[in-house]
Amino acid sequence: MELEIPKRYKNKSVAQLLPIAQDWFNKMIRLRDKNKPCISCGSWNTSDASHFYSRGNYPGMRFVEDNVHLSCAKCNRFLHGNLLEYRRLLIRKIGIERVEKLEWMSISNRSKKWTRWELIVIILECQSKCKIYELSNN
Ligand SMILES: [Zn+2]
Repeated sequence: MELEIPKRYKNKSVAQLLPIAQDWFNKMIRLRDKNKPCISCGSWNTSDASHFYSRGNYPGMRFVEDNVHLSCAKCNRFLHGNLLEYRRLLIRKIGIERVEKLEWMSISNRSKKWTRWELIVIILECQSKCKIYELSNN
């Protein structure tokens, strides 16, 4: 089966596709974690998709699902992710093996450059995951 690229993404550049992919990815994380507390402090006042390894320093970790979890605005925006607590609750949520895999990925994946094709695939994958989460939450 060949993947058909939707017309609206066909002529877009990497710079144009990146924020679209990020929006869909964050939406998918919010739906996935809809009934979960803040990954860093346990507050239920959640709003942000918070990266454990930041997008700025670790471009290759931007769209890794285990690297991004719902958090409150205070932890994500003012405490820079509140990372010591984030790690503690992340181990509880996904287990030490997956956290160690993230650490390994963050080292090996540092200078990632996204291609148009990769970003389009991410957008389409996130759109279909959003649909699945929406169906399973209702
Ligand atoms: Zn928090």
